[in-house]
Amino acid sequence: MKNYNVGIIGATGMVGQRFVTLLSGHPWFKIKVLAASGRSAGKTYREAVGAKWAMKTPLPENVADIVVKDATADMKEIASEVDFVFCAVDMPSEEIIALEEGYAKLECPVVSNNKEHRLYPDVPMLIPECNSEHTAVIETQRKRLGTKRGFIAVKPNCSIQSYVPALHPLREYGISAVLACNYQAISGAGKTFETWPEMVDNLIPFIKGEEQKSEIEPMKIWGEVKDGVIVPAAKPVITTQCLRVPVSDGHTSAVFVKFERKPSKEEMIKAWREYKGEPQLLGLPSAPKQFLNYFEEDNRPQAKLDRDLEGGMAVSIGRLREDILFDYKFVCLSHNTLRGAAGGGVLAAELLAAKGYFD
Ligand code: NAP
Repeated sequence: MKNYNVGIIGATGMVGQRFVTLLSGHPWFKIKVLAASGRSAGKTYREAVGAKWAMKTPLPENVADIVVKDATADMKEIASEVDFVFCAVDMPSEEIIALEEGYAKLECPVVSNNKEHRLYPDVPMLIPECNSEHTAVIETQRKRLGTKRGFIAVKPNCSIQSYVPALHPLREYGISAVLACNYQAISGAGKTFETWPEMVDNLIPFIKGEEQKSEIEPMKIWGEVKDGVIVPAAKPVITTQCLRVPVSDGHTSAVFVKFERKPSKEEMIKAWREYKGEPQLLGLPSAPKQFLNYFEEDNRPQAKLDRDLEGGMAVSIGRLREDILFDYKFVCLSHNTLRGAAGGGVLAAELLAAKGYFD
């Protein structure tokens, strides 16, 4: 595989730091540019991040002395220096749309963790194991943006990254209704117990905008490409509740599901254990070997024990049993800042690279 020079826009933030950590030593992608706001521009990465470094591993030495650029003011220079950028910034929505389109129109593809472009019908929103075929709409998007090479691809919200993968191989049984209660870690809000002490011994039953994303985004993931755009799936009906819980990392979901043709428990477990998506078939560097892992033990999956499975890129499932209102219920877990954020972004970029979209 060819090597690619990459930029990280929002490199000083929580998601940006995770990108820096995952990409230091990546076999295909080499960090060339780090960019953030004007507040960080002109400082070395080490100075700009300072005490905000929140990763468990030390700041990688090979990027510490890179001078941070201004993501907006230096856009032309950045776009000319890299093959594509990752983007995860905290800015007003209209500024994020302008920033991402700005890079794409400068012929610099953008792999984004921001929510702003997720529902555009010509923007692929990738869980690479589930909807890798959605990259086909990039051609339509390039026509809209008037680009030859530039485009935007996004990854979905972290809240859906356990139950959408777990339900995905079961769609052959006609999923008609889903209820998912999501128990979401504090790192999803960019926080730790040090920065959010109110979360110790607490639960907050509200995460702004999260339930809407958790119900709408799966329909796009399961949508079909028709006439060059993604047409969202019409079913299943999905209802969710999202609660913030005192867990550092790892979103857990309690899922109830109803089918048109009810499978047996054994068929469901077999479907999970045998499922392989395009990342597994292509052997992408960040792809988990076993994407969906079913645990027989009654007390699994547990956030602390299972979130780091396969580098935090695998999904863990357990407690499958029949339900009196729905057909079945089960519990699933994914690492929200790895599979659910930067790791998912890196895997999406690997898929795009393998399919030639950065050439
Ligand atoms: P964060 O820790 O607050 O970091 C924000 C980043 O944005 C910093 O690098 C900051 O740079 C940069 N920034 C702020 N204003 C800017 C400007 N005017 N121009 C350029 N850069 C600017 O936020 P985060 O938790 O990393 O989240 C970043 C984004 O990722 C958000 O959109 C969030 O919703 C999204 N996110 C997605 C997922 C997912 O994919 N599922 C998960 C978590 C978060 P300075 O340090 O210079 O201020």
